[in-house]
Amino acid sequence: MYFLHGSSRINERGHLEIGGCDTTELAKQYGTPLYIMDEAYIRQKMRSYVQAFQKERLAFRVAYASKAFSTMAMCRIADEEGLMLDVVSEGEIYTALEAGFPAERIYFHGNNKTPQELEFALDKGIYLFVVDNFDELHLLQHLSKEKGKTARVILRVTPGVEAHTHEYIQTGKEDSKFGFGLESGQALEGVRQALNCDHLELLGFHCHIGSQIFETEAFELTISKMSKFFQTCYERWGMITRIFNTGGGFGIRYEQGDTPKEPAEYVAVIAQAVRESMKDLPCLPEIWIEPGRSIVGEAGTTLYTVGTVKDVPNIRKYVAVDGGMTDNIRPALYQAKYEAILANRANEASSEVVTIAGKACEEGDILVWDVALPPVKQGDLLAISCTGAYNYSMASNYNRVRRPAVVFVQNGQADLVVERESLADLVSHDRIPARLAKKKVGLTI
Ligand SMILES: *Cc1c(COP(=O)(O)O)cnc(C)c1O
Repeated sequence: MYFLHGSSRINERGHLEIGGCDTTELAKQYGTPLYIMDEAYIRQKMRSYVQAFQKERLAFRVAYASKAFSTMAMCRIADEEGLMLDVVSEGEIYTALEAGFPAERIYFHGNNKTPQELEFALDKGIYLFVVDNFDELHLLQHLSKEKGKTARVILRVTPGVEAHTHEYIQTGKEDSKFGFGLESGQALEGVRQALNCDHLELLGFHCHIGSQIFETEAFELTISKMSKFFQTCYERWGMITRIFNTGGGFGIRYEQGDTPKEPAEYVAVIAQAVRESMKDLPCLPEIWIEPGRSIVGEAGTTLYTVGTVKDVPNIRKYVAVDGGMTDNIRPALYQAKYEAILANRANEASSEVVTIAGKACEEGDILVWDVALPPVKQGDLLAISCTGAYNYSMASNYNRVRRPAVVFVQNGQADLVVERESLADLVSHDRIPARLAKKKVGLTI
């Protein structure tokens, strides 16, 4: 069953409306597929994390994990809301800086930051680096030294806790491409080496234990394990942990049955666990979080136009839309589930169960299996909710499909924040070597 997120509602004309904008009008003006982002809802999510921490009276920073949805307009919102920005590539740094996001509120994640990316980040003066492994530690020390700079760092630690939507597992397993293993002793060795790097300033640690997490025990366990580690670092080297970044991964409600916690609840659990397990440290670290999905996920809706409908007798009806895995890879990639509604006939009762197919040349390009809808016909507008995170940012040009436009909506106003790609954009990076150039017909020399 479709349910309404954020400012979405069904208006008097029976149309889906978001941010005060009638989606049928948006389709006319901007075409489909179209990503629609509910700006007020994005800001509200950001504020709910910040306000929850303010209530806890802990030193904190809230960052937005920009990989969930990185565009210049989005960086403006994160800046206006005073958030930090977690980036994972030169491209995300560039996007942020071009948008006027201050370098001193950007920090850099990634398990294989290239020397070029590290230099770029050092030159731009970003706030800190989340160092992922020994090679990066030494490379960053070397590059900082060459530039006569000191880089602030925190180390990414894999605490042996892994959380998934409805459960967590405490693995002894160190089998992750990310971070310094806690249980293998790599994390401790990482600290020893970082403290010996005279061009690095080690400020603390980071853990990220999963994504779309519903329960809170995994955070509590992580914090408790890490507090012992901070104590060890203090006892061995007198190292004071100034920053503890507990990562992102807070769950959202894709389907009616999903039951994530409110931002304030996650924050309260983290704050409580920090206070309890870290009370014997010389001082409490500043607590950072870096949600991505939970800030933008529910704020996004993708609008499609229905094209062909194919009935496979006694089996299923396929309703094909003008987008698919090129704008939303998640169903094909991780069997992600979504809800759909007819945006132009949103009040009509459902009477059949259909499967929403994309237009890409892949049998697996299905957006939603078995969704109840009114009788669907060509030209209807289909909306899929909860597409704000990891949809636009994972979009591709497979089949040379043009990536959709993105609009921000609020207070009845729609603003284009990413233009739809043009046909010319598709070939703009193509080059034809001279030897393959089309010969002019009929030309004689
Ligand atoms: C992806 C990621 C995040 C954001 O995760 P969400 O599930 O979108 O909140 C935060 N931190 C790190 C290190 C990540 O890799």
